[in-house]
Amino acid sequence: MIVIDNVSKWYGPFQVLRDCTTQVARGEVVVVCGPSGSGKSTLIKAVNGLEPFQQGAIHVDGTSVGDPATQLPALRARIGMVFQNFELFPHLSVRDNLTLAQVKVLKRSRDEATANGLKYLDRVGLLAHQDKFPAQLSGGQQQRVAIARALAMDPVAMLFDEPTSALDPEMVGEVLDVMTGLAQDGMTMMVVTHEMGFARRVADRVVFMDEGRIVEEGAADAFFAAPASDRAREFLTRII
Ligand code: ATP
Ligand code: MG
Repeated sequence: MIVIDNVSKWYGPFQVLRDCTTQVARGEVVVVCGPSGSGKSTLIKAVNGLEPFQQGAIHVDGTSVGDPATQLPALRARIGMVFQNFELFPHLSVRDNLTLAQVKVLKRSRDEATANGLKYLDRVGLLAHQDKFPAQLSGGQQQRVAIARALAMDPVAMLFDEPTSALDPEMVGEVLDVMTGLAQDGMTMMVVTHEMGFARRVADRVVFMDEGRIVEEGAADAFFAAPASDRAREFLTRII
């Protein structure tokens, strides 16, 4: 589903991604972890064309992300992305947040978009909040709306960049529960997170990055039980 092949990226003289190669199969959940500044956000943003790269190739569901002929807006409409800072439209109600892109990008009728949006709002347990504005919701609720909004686009895969790291601790669980449900339903997911409990329980594979490189990757069980590299071992003792 997601194929990352020898991707390198530079900011001027600084190489931020170094020959990154990995894949996420259909229905697979891959957690990306590693120290701050190791390139996790850059890599995941490259997958939906938010970060251009100079070398290598990324394909999502057969479409080449880096190919200048690829229509990035059309590609992005098929990939759900959830960031650290919710990024709901503050001036729109929850319901309108859920419908806007469906109408504008997918050209769905307002009725169809609303019905579909509310289906996902129900799924994240927030149907009763459809008339509220984002500022009237807790951080955890806003993040669940952001997930519902992404799902309403019927994405082929979902990308998450530290979706719980801006949340108060008591709200982390409700967001991880929604993500766990998604994984169980077979969604293809690439998740940058420091929630190692989630990674252990939900991830099929863990990718560990350091200094722009994918240093190691493997089954979650094996990675946590016995990381192969010193860097990963160090990282895990610091974080767990
Ligand atoms: P964190 O865990 O803190 O979110 P990360 O692994 O997501 O870190 P990135 O945000 O991908 O790391 O950044 C990787 C490196 O690229 C960092 O050293 C960062 O300073 C650098 N970087 C990011 N964006 C830019 C930019 N626009 N210009 C120059 N350097 C950048
Ligand atoms: Mg980051």
